[in-house]
Amino acid sequence: MSKHHPLLQAFGALLVLDADSRRIQAVSSNLSSLLNIPIPDVRTQTLTSVLGKRLSQRVRYELQGKQRLSGPLTFKCPTRSQRFQLHAYRSGMHVVIEIEPLHTLGKQRLLGTVNERLMRLAEATHQEELLDYLVMAVQELTGHDRVSVCHFDSDWHGLIVAESLATGSVKPGSVSPGREVPLGRLPALLGQRFPAKDFPVALRGAYERHPVRLIQDVAAPCEHLLPRGAVVDLSDCFLRAPAPERQQYLQRLGVRGALSVAMQGDTGLWGLLFCHSASAYPVTPPVRDAVRTLVQMATQRLLLLRARQEARYLQRVQDSLVLSSNNRLKPQSPYQLFTEHAETWQSLFRAHGVALWVKGSVYQAGNTPKPEAISQLVTRIEKAHVHSGPWCTQETAKEPLTSSLGMSEQSGVLAVPLPTDPSQRGWLIFFRPEQVETLYWAMQPPSAPLTPMMMLPSAAWCEEVTGKSEAWQRVERLAAMDLGEDLTLAISAYEISTLNMHLERERKALADANQRLEQLAHFDPLTQVWNRYRIEQAIDAELVAAKRYGAAFALLLFDVDHFKQINDTLGHSVGDDVLISLARMVESSLRGCDHLGRWGGEEFVVLATHSSMDAAEGLAERLRSLVATLQVTGLNQPMTVSIGVAVWQPDDSCKTIIARADAAMYRAKRNGRNRVEIAEKNVQ
Ligand code: GH3
Ligand code: MG
Ligand code: MG
Repeated sequence: MSKHHPLLQAFGALLVLDADSRRIQAVSSNLSSLLNIPIPDVRTQTLTSVLGKRLSQRVRYELQGKQRLSGPLTFKCPTRSQRFQLHAYRSGMHVVIEIEPLHTLGKQRLLGTVNERLMRLAEATHQEELLDYLVMAVQELTGHDRVSVCHFDSDWHGLIVAESLATGSVKPGSVSPGREVPLGRLPALLGQRFPAKDFPVALRGAYERHPVRLIQDVAAPCEHLLPRGAVVDLSDCFLRAPAPERQQYLQRLGVRGALSVAMQGDTGLWGLLFCHSASAYPVTPPVRDAVRTLVQMATQRLLLLRARQEARYLQRVQDSLVLSSNNRLKPQSPYQLFTEHAETWQSLFRAHGVALWVKGSVYQAGNTPKPEAISQLVTRIEKAHVHSGPWCTQETAKEPLTSSLGMSEQSGVLAVPLPTDPSQRGWLIFFRPEQVETLYWAMQPPSAPLTPMMMLPSAAWCEEVTGKSEAWQRVERLAAMDLGEDLTLAISAYEISTLNMHLERERKALADANQRLEQLAHFDPLTQVWNRYRIEQAIDAELVAAKRYGAAFALLLFDVDHFKQINDTLGHSVGDDVLISLARMVESSLRGCDHLGRWGGEEFVVLATHSSMDAAEGLAERLRSLVATLQVTGLNQPMTVSIGVAVWQPDDSCKTIIARADAAMYRAKRNGRNRVEIAEKNVQ
């Protein structure tokens, strides 16, 4: 808010009124000459006395409850046959009215031309085509010596991306129509840059609030407010004179007449359209409005084209994602993923190398630093870059994280975190080579004393920028996030599937071990029948069942007769074979509910469930005669067993029933062997 006495350009006049739009409080010094009226006495006069009753009433009516008039009003000056355009708006406690002369000349034609231009702009399919057409159309419309579009980069340096220079036609809107104007009075700026300091924050802010700025004549003497000393904030005012530093700046550029229009992007100023003229250059309000419309239309189209281009790019990245491809059913290892996709990734991200770092393993494709440098880089980024977005640099040699890693062939790095494991993220890293660029600075070199610069004959400065890669664009960083998420999921899916595989393998190993343990715990290793421990368990269980349900059972304890002799004459291994064959034969002849166990040495026990004394004795007799038929290689005489049979008694324990069977068995031995003896009721 400038509180000093405001200076005004002379191409229009201005009135400052009270908040009711009635009493005049100040006027610009040129008001009386413009409207051909006596200098108003600001102490007594009202708006009505200057503009007449009808027009003043209309201004008051249309400004009611509003900040500004919705559009300009036109009127004809009663004292002159001249038409004027009027604008009114509020500024603090004041109402400001700006008045500019109108030349109706060619207004209809102008509308037609503008419409046609708008259509052409709306059909443009590429940024260059659009901007080239815009500067051409604006140059034709205003006739300025030079019309340029300046685009701001992320550092607010401006680059002239499109330009149209006057080619020799008569200026349609000039002060004296029909006069030939010397051409080529302003040099071409296309491809040149303006340093960010030429566009200070305040200036950019002003463009965002007031997109159109007209300076008809930088060198013209300024008007001021009457009475002298009146202080009103005129920063919203179209007629305000440029600040002295802006005047000097334009003069150094050789510009005297200037019209500039902001190109407002979705995240701030995209750029500016400048119309420059070497001489004073008036632009009538309709032409000015037309330029504004064209620029706004072109900017909209530009944003749309850019959005479409970005969407197409993002779609291409989306199409390349692992999880949307056909392989999603079969999880791939990081190595498989990398070898399959590295080439596509490189081309999508315009990188000359790519590396994937997962849990200490590095996979590389194209031009990348050494694996140790990549691991170092990962360690450093992991520490310095905690948030989830990608990390990037264009200048590895200057970036503290990378400068000591010896990455001479990689100037650009874009590193995407893959949070497969929050304690140790994976990283997908793209590398770009150095891209030596020659920058042409218009007029003033930027404040970069370290870079050597060269003055060109055209007064532009030339700067060679080395050590930098092409910039990582916003849309590329967005796409990198998409890719990162996809890759994280793919790697996690793989890890889960391998983990499941391990689990399954371990589960099986455990089951096998359990089975082996069970075998060892319950089976006799030589004969593969139950061991003593297992048969004792079974006897205990039978005792419980017998006690509860009165289901009697019997125990048959049998011992091979003269087994020592077999061992002694035929060898221990034949003895073993005999035991194995015997066990197999007995077991296969038993009912499913009876069990055979090895009691020790050449002694075996048969547990016969649901067995009465008669049944048990029958079974013992059957087994005895069966054993006598056993044929074993090497054994040339029949083998016999002596069997003791004990049937359950209600007060039996495992020990007592075994003891009774044992006693019966010894009785069978004593009574001549190869026989069955029944245990007595009580052994004691
Ligand atoms: P008896 O008719 O009185 O039972 O005579 P025996 O020779 O069978 O009696 P003794 O108990 O003296 O001999 C049993 C022999 O069985 C002694 C032992 O070396 C042998 N023996 C015990 N376990 C095994 C084994 O696992 N394999 C072999 N080959 N021999 C065994
Ligand atoms: Mg024995
Ligand atoms: Mg024996």
